[in-house]
Amino acid sequence: MSAGTAPGPAPVAQGEVQPLIRLRGVTKVYGEGATAFHALKGIDLDIRAGEFVAIMGPSGSGKSTALNMLGCLDRPTAGEYLLQGIHVETLDRDGRALLRRRFLGFVFQGFNLLARTSAQENVELPLIYRGMPARERHAAAAAALTEVGLAGWEHHTPGELSGGQQQRVAIARAIVTQPAVLLADEPTGNLDTARSQEIMALLARLNAERGITILMVTHEPDMAAWAHRMVHFRDGQIQSDTRNPQPTRVGAPAAATEAG
Ligand code: ADP
Repeated sequence: MSAGTAPGPAPVAQGEVQPLIRLRGVTKVYGEGATAFHALKGIDLDIRAGEFVAIMGPSGSGKSTALNMLGCLDRPTAGEYLLQGIHVETLDRDGRALLRRRFLGFVFQGFNLLARTSAQENVELPLIYRGMPARERHAAAAAALTEVGLAGWEHHTPGELSGGQQQRVAIARAIVTQPAVLLADEPTGNLDTARSQEIMALLARLNAERGITILMVTHEPDMAAWAHRMVHFRDGQIQSDTRNPQPTRVGAPAAATEAG
């Protein structure tokens, strides 16, 4: 190879900012042989840090399968999933669990809080898994509860809290580890309209102020309207991927009253 007088141009990829999440040709097949079901049929998706993405589509279109994959709860049958440059598809169960603890927070439709356990203790749980000393843990959980508007409610159990408040506790539990990505599966599915808007306002604030990347599955256009980008699934494929030019904002007419 001849020596050049000046360094050649940098490879194109070098200047490119790697997305936080990159899916390439991701498939998911349930079952085998004649009964095999192709839930995802080759998904390509890039998500940059700080995005707020709504994942939509009819029932059975592959949304939950995709969210489980993105949440490192499941592995693709084929294809690549890079999370912060790490090839998730090569990791075993333990490896994926570590990645989840390090980078991801989860919010579910049904809140999934421990009953008969205070809000404070629910939020401390992921920190216990991390081995954080008690004093630090208490402070971090109290701060997270304050951040979601639940200062003063630390010692209440889920049964003593409204649905909206329970989802706030779940969000505090999801953010207390300072995750890069928050995955939310129909987070307002069990809430009335006013409470739903409050939860969306909270998620939008966490996205805007803390820069948490949010991936949210929803059926409801009103909730998706808060996101900056909408990815529609259909029959295991991405049917459309569009920017939302005017996401709903706090203070918009749809936003409801505080508390609850
Ligand atoms: P969505 O979240 O859009 O409603 P899902 O991702 O839950 O869709 O499901 C996509 C398809 O994959 C559905 O037809 C569903 O029945 C099928 N499916 C999901 N999980 C499994 C499983 N564990 N075994 C077999 N089929 C499954």
